[in-house]
Amino acid sequence: MQVYLDNASTTQIDARVLGAMLPFLKDNFGNASSIHSFGRKARVAIENSREIIADFIGAIPSEIYFTSGGTEAINFIINGISKTNFSETGKNELITSPIEHKAVVDTHKNLELSQFTTKYIEIDNNGNFDINSLPNIINENTSLISLMHTNNEIGVINKVEQIASKLGENQFLFSDCVQAFGKTKIDVNELKIDAFSASAHKIYGPKGIGIAFVKSGTPFSPMLFGGSQERNRRGGTENVAAIVAFAEAVKIAKTEMESNYKTVSELNSYFQKGIKQIFGDKIAINSTENSSPYILSLTFRDEYFRNNIDTFLMALDINGIAASQGSACTSGTIKPSHVILGIGKSVNDANGTIRFSFNPQNKINEIDYVLSILEKLGTNNLK
Ligand code: PLP
Repeated sequence: MQVYLDNASTTQIDARVLGAMLPFLKDNFGNASSIHSFGRKARVAIENSREIIADFIGAIPSEIYFTSGGTEAINFIINGISKTNFSETGKNELITSPIEHKAVVDTHKNLELSQFTTKYIEIDNNGNFDINSLPNIINENTSLISLMHTNNEIGVINKVEQIASKLGENQFLFSDCVQAFGKTKIDVNELKIDAFSASAHKIYGPKGIGIAFVKSGTPFSPMLFGGSQERNRRGGTENVAAIVAFAEAVKIAKTEMESNYKTVSELNSYFQKGIKQIFGDKIAINSTENSSPYILSLTFRDEYFRNNIDTFLMALDINGIAASQGSACTSGTIKPSHVILGIGKSVNDANGTIRFSFNPQNKINEIDYVLSILEKLGTNNLK
């Protein structure tokens, strides 16, 4: 049996999304900047897609920029806002959390090589931001606060909507919503955010296409220079087929998001119940009531697969089960996860943590199979 439980890394493209995309790889191949009919067809498809996505999040179409994925959207937003705000107001302090995706963490590190400094919000052992601690680190030099919505390794969902009230003049809020978009409601007005990032391949769309939402009026400048695409802010011939596919994935999410959430919640709690029955307290479940049901992070305790999680993941793989150590970007390396360390766990714990992540097509019998393999591997390991 093959069971794919690594959906936070990437998802399989939905057949309907592929169907919407294919004509733009074949007959409708025009360059959207061309004035002839081929080009116009592509332009219309892009602008329709932009409208669909903007409508989904309560934005206006001109606030949506297509990028090559979540990582580019994050770089585009953090660099674009912080550098422009610095040149306009001189503000040079950034705030983020220790458990952001590497794209956020490393963009901050890169900005620190020039005139910027970064301060970190405090978090508790479940990865919840201490929003009340923000006033201690915000001052008149604060420019941009970047705090993620749903964590990609442990699934904790933070209350981003509470942050805006802590901001002063010319201070902006960005939230990385890659793991939340299309899975739970994201309304930019309700969240009171100035910018967010999302990526199609996390919601049954193709890889290599993402969006940056940047609220109009936010100081912002381009990252990629070249053509005048994306209102002069992101040069480069648009990936029309992928943009159309992303919009199709969004259309599907709009109608199926709620039922998917319910299905995945049932799978997740069934899995958790099974884990508790088989392993008791030998495995810690790193999720709370406000965690995303799409992600289940488990930490093996004591001698149990300690420091040997790669071997464990390989054993799962041999049995047809795909899971991961956390972020896809850090798996494959022996470096302990900065997220697991960030929530106060030890290096041993970090090296003993795995992530299962679901999609609504997963079935209870697949979970039963995974539990049986976990039990088998566990029993062997304890011998
Ligand atoms: N942000 C989060 C929270 C993610 O989980 C990911 C992907 O794993 C990204 C950003 C990067 O997105 P992409 O793979 O589209 O570059």
